[in-house]
Amino acid sequence: MSSSNTTSFKPAIVVVDLQNDFCPPNGSLAVAGGRDIAPLINDLLSLPFALKVATKDFHPQDHISFASNHPAPDNKPFESFVTITNPLNSSETEVSRLWPDHCVQGTPGSELIEELDKNKINVIIEKGQDKRVEMYSAFADPFPTTVSSSRLGKTLKDADITHVYCVGIATDYCVKYTALDSAKEGFVTYFIEDATKPVDPSAVDDVRNELQKFGVTFIQSQSEEVQKVRSLTG
Ligand SMILES: [Zn+2]
Repeated sequence: MSSSNTTSFKPAIVVVDLQNDFCPPNGSLAVAGGRDIAPLINDLLSLPFALKVATKDFHPQDHISFASNHPAPDNKPFESFVTITNPLNSSETEVSRLWPDHCVQGTPGSELIEELDKNKINVIIEKGQDKRVEMYSAFADPFPTTVSSSRLGKTLKDADITHVYCVGIATDYCVKYTALDSAKEGFVTYFIEDATKPVDPSAVDDVRNELQKFGVTFIQSQSEEVQKVRSLTG
């Protein structure tokens, strides 16, 4: 099927990690207000995006990002950092924050929150399954020599997606790095700021400044870039 006669605007929405463990009241790594963005995200999912993706952080119990898997005293969730060496290339290292256990495969905490209208989701992409590396981005781990990548890049390319709209949790971690990789993959990338929630609200200005350098555009759900999707015929 050729669609080359149409304009080059085939948008996807990527809902990042809207999971129980990232939301109050019971999430092990709850982000304040995480559940509150679900109605807005459901509204966005009602728009005629060509592809609607939800991602899930999906860790084994022995994942390297869990503070519980590291020895004291440098194993305090939220506070401690570890240096992760690329298992495929020891010259590559990443300093990474440690977290409480979260989104363990098969647990209720790893499930998408019930408020999210899953009937509107076309594809669910799991990430973070490789215990050896942190993976904030829903595309791949951060190492130049990639250790673990998801199906997201191929899924978007196979669908001839041109524009990617990023929403979800958390503004300053998984949405940030997903948007960054989206831009690096060549997609026109939008970050719908009011449809995300941060771990650290004071970090949002830095996130915006950093991502804009890589070509990511920060917008609001009422911005014209969203109206452009709304005006597509479904
Ligand atoms: Zn994680």
